[in-house]
Amino acid sequence: MLLAIVNLAFLIGAVLFARGLSLLSSPETARKGNIYAGAIGMGLAILGALFFPMDVPNNYLWIVAGLIVGGGIGYYVSYKVKMTAMPQMVAIFNGLGGACAVLLAMVEFNNYYLAEIPDGGTGALVSSALALIIGGVAFTGSFVAYAKLEEFIKDNFLVIPKYHHILNITLLLVLLGFTAWLVYLGPEGEMWMALVFMGIALYYGVSFVVPIGGADMPVVIALLNTFSGLSAASAGLIYNNKIMVVGGLLVGASGVILTVLMCKAMNRSLLNVLIGGFGGSAAGGKKGAQGEMVIKEVALNEAAIQLNYSKSVVFVPGYGLAVAQAQKVCKEIEDILEANDVEVRYAIHPVAGRMPGHMNVLLAEANVAYPKLLDLDEANAYLANADIAVIVGANDVVNPAALDDPSSLIYGMPILRVWDAKHVIVLKRSMRPGYAGIENPLFFHPKTHMLFGDAKDSLTKLVTELKAL
Ligand code: NDP
Repeated sequence: MLLAIVNLAFLIGAVLFARGLSLLSSPETARKGNIYAGAIGMGLAILGALFFPMDVPNNYLWIVAGLIVGGGIGYYVSYKVKMTAMPQMVAIFNGLGGACAVLLAMVEFNNYYLAEIPDGGTGALVSSALALIIGGVAFTGSFVAYAKLEEFIKDNFLVIPKYHHILNITLLLVLLGFTAWLVYLGPEGEMWMALVFMGIALYYGVSFVVPIGGADMPVVIALLNTFSGLSAASAGLIYNNKIMVVGGLLVGASGVILTVLMCKAMNRSLLNVLIGGFGGSAAGGKKGAQGEMVIKEVALNEAAIQLNYSKSVVFVPGYGLAVAQAQKVCKEIEDILEANDVEVRYAIHPVAGRMPGHMNVLLAEANVAYPKLLDLDEANAYLANADIAVIVGANDVVNPAALDDPSSLIYGMPILRVWDAKHVIVLKRSMRPGYAGIENPLFFHPKTHMLFGDAKDSLTKLVTELKAL
């Protein structure tokens, strides 16, 4: 009877995961999707897992204590985290998923070699080895990604110039060789072998992520997301826990889709990202050399007049919008302009911000209507006839060097062609570069006017100017 209830909980949980994921595909329904998949589905999976497997006595004191401590920390950090630090938090969550898989695999090796419970035989060894390799990459790789996003480490940290991918291929082959060796030895294997295996897997995670950086980080984050899902699925195989396998595979599959989309957004093949190229520290790239080019500034009242008397305005949000938390005041300007018959749209670059979907989340929070958000191709078509493009804290995603400077670090990345609009106003605090660390010729373009200052501050002052007109 209990088994039937547990299986039913797993089945409903799996259905909720799938339904939740499909709801996550649109900002309008994403909140509901999170509640279905993340809260109810995962809650059922955890409840079911408390009674599974049934023939093994569980220590409920430890389990409940773990749930309270882990859940408490999760609740606290999610509540406290700043919107700009969300990508770092996602990286840590991915990493912790991988760490769980590594720990479960080590418990299983311990059971196999030390407690002498070689129950699953070859199957258990293979699934533990898989959980160790994939979980290890997700764990240490995600913490390296976290350190890169926080700018604790530089892109060339621990990288062997030119030959790093050979080291990585060698490490992967060693890990696969280790798996075959442990399976061959069976119960003759020893715990120290599993510990060495774990050490190599953890180092492989570091070595896998260190050479990828700069503008390629969105692809890495999507890839690590895939690994954290697959590590959960392989840990599920160890315990024959169907909901872990289903949930892990769903996360893994959506991570693969996201990876493909991010590669497409960067116009790069996955292989190219993994073995380096642009974004890699070894690549060249123009860091400046704008020489005598002139920067033009615009006054607030002038900008307000231009906006008020235009027919169409395109806001281009970037990471600076997230830093300034300027999304709500952006929406306030949209309302004022639309009341004056100015059409307003938002151009969303797929890698704007610091995590996939970053701008969509921020603008949804400000109640910007979803149909006003244009993807890259729609935005470029729209910009060709727009009066003004207002760049709110974006930089790399509007850098024309991606199109016309083969020496640029981001050459080949599709970007928003904001200079096709009649006028361009750029809101940022200084002439500092964006994430890729390169200068942006757009700021010296004849159509461009700079409005220096914190984006929220500048937009708030623009609201006052617009209301005074
Ligand atoms: P960028 O990082 O290129 O530029 C952000 C700009 O915002 C900076 O130039 C900065 O200039 C400005 N800024 C910062 N704070 C403020 C503020 N308070 N007010 C006004 N402006 C501000 O951002 P983009 O969104 O254009 O590009 C994203 C970059 O991040 C790409 O290179 C992408 O590859 C990378 N990336 C994306 C990820 C993703 O998944 N989306 C993940 C990891 C990396 P200043 O300091 O002068 O104000």
